[in-house]
Amino acid sequence: MLSLVIDGFEFCRQKENRAGRFAVSDLPRLAEETADRSGDIGWNAEGSVLASGHPRIKLSVSGAIGLICQRCLTSYEFRLDSGSTIVLARSEEGVDELESFLDDDSIDVIAGDTPINLAELIEDEILLALPVSPKHEQCPSTQALDKLKNAGKRSPFAVLKDLKREK
Ligand SMILES: [Zn+2]
Repeated sequence: MLSLVIDGFEFCRQKENRAGRFAVSDLPRLAEETADRSGDIGWNAEGSVLASGHPRIKLSVSGAIGLICQRCLTSYEFRLDSGSTIVLARSEEGVDELESFLDDDSIDVIAGDTPINLAELIEDEILLALPVSPKHEQCPSTQALDKLKNAGKRSPFAVLKDLKREK
């Protein structure tokens, strides 16, 4: 497990900005979801403080991941480009309260009083951005197969009719 531990409150107060790349193979939960554990993901974490005084971390991730298409079971490249906003509560007890105060489903609230492993947050972010049921927009192998199937479904008479019409 990669470890990139920060003090969340400090990170936001100092308006720190960190960026890097993680190999897919170094993120075990993600690697399990991929076709071949190859590739890497670029990430960026930016600390700031909301007008309300709450510390905020903005995360973004991007890269290409090889996933297995659920339709044809071959691999395809999924383009990842996602981001999220995380606001820190004073403690675990304050998470629910802050969530209802912010009243914004696009914001995640976590406790900031214990050290935060950025690597884990980044992996969470990537996992949430993956398609639930990954599929090619158009599967390369079934495309040819479908054509054959459809051609086979037509009766010889229908084909003859078409031929006559074309004359
Ligand atoms: Zn496919």
